[in-house]
Amino acid sequence: MAGPKHKVTKSRIKMRRSHHRAATLTSVKCSKCGELKLAHSLCLACGSYNGRQVIKGKTEV
Ligand SMILES: [Zn+2]
Repeated sequence: MAGPKHKVTKSRIKMRRSHHRAATLTSVKCSKCGELKLAHSLCLACGSYNGRQVIKGKTEV
């Protein structure tokens, strides 16, 4: 069985984990109502996506 040849030091662990972080959420303004929304997702304020009404119940602004 293959195993680790050397002990991974605290320093090495920290260096590796320096890249471990949550991805930053990209928010853009909705083209329809101007509300802040997540990129590549439908607007929760007016229910539109890519200039198209997706959720019928939401009011069109
Ligand atoms: Zn909107």
